[in-house]
Amino acid sequence: MTARLLEGRPVADAIWRDVEQRAVAFSSTAGRPPMLGLVAGPDESAAAYARQVERQFGRHGLRVARPSAATLDFAGEVRAFSRDPTIDGVLLLTPLPEGVDPEAVALAIDPSKDVDGQHPHNLGRLAQRRSAFAPATALGGIRLLQHYAVALRGAHAVVVGRSPVVGMPMALLLIDADATVSVCHSRTQHLAEVTRQADVLCVAIGRPHLIGPEHIKPGAVVVDFGTNPMPDGAVVGDVQADAVRAVAGALTPVPGGTGPITVAVLAQQTLSAAELHLHER
Ligand code: NAP
Repeated sequence: MTARLLEGRPVADAIWRDVEQRAVAFSSTAGRPPMLGLVAGPDESAAAYARQVERQFGRHGLRVARPSAATLDFAGEVRAFSRDPTIDGVLLLTPLPEGVDPEAVALAIDPSKDVDGQHPHNLGRLAQRRSAFAPATALGGIRLLQHYAVALRGAHAVVVGRSPVVGMPMALLLIDADATVSVCHSRTQHLAEVTRQADVLCVAIGRPHLIGPEHIKPGAVVVDFGTNPMPDGAVVGDVQADAVRAVAGALTPVPGGTGPITVAVLAQQTLSAAELHLHER
């Protein structure tokens, strides 16, 4: 068997088409484009991601605002964007400098502008199966599975990783999609025995190639969130793609799987926040 490759680009393109149409409609009603307020520390990988967000938002009819002067008052910057009626969504990029507590800063995000699901209010609502802003990477994983018509209702989904950014929200979203969900982490005993039960296996560990063919039920759908930079400059996933393709039914590539969808989902949630605020005015 050679697993089908579940490419992220067509999923992202479909989301961007929706975003573009809604951005045009919002701009003509509101008299300004939908706007994301972005706060980031000095970290280079965060800066690179911020540039990517700015470029892609600009290309599809949204705008990104940055704090006017660089300060170390990240909570203040987030609070200012949260209060600004011309800012629709707020995104905080970590890591922040040593000594700054990212959780405390995330608490300054207005939950109604929390378009990357960083405030515990939204993760809590997700756990209650109420409408909420989910972390964009996890929601992107669900969008990918929906795009490729992967059956989730009644399926056994196993998520490896329980971070609040990827693993935990992915598990909650899968539960909401009526899958039966198991969550594994670094203390899980006999990982392969659990993952081999998965009809849908979602992996968000951050360990290059940890998941091999011995972890896969034949025919399973495998979503690899792993983005691991290697010394030679390549980026690899958490899954041994070549070996796993011989066992799985479908697999997301790295790069080019879940990665391209994240920013598109972020833009879509920024528009949802913008539309909501417009209707509330
Ligand atoms: P994280 O916060 O470091 O969480 C990693 C999770 O993996 C933890 O829950 C940890 O368990 C678990 N884990 C670690 N070693 C394990 C092992 N040997 N066996 C089973 N579980 C293990 O990482 P993250 O932020 O969730 O990111 C995970 C990966 O996704 C990274 O490669 C990251 O770059 C990537 N990512 C991709 C995107 C995207 O857009 N595609 C976005 C964000 C992140 P414990 O809880 O027990 O420590």
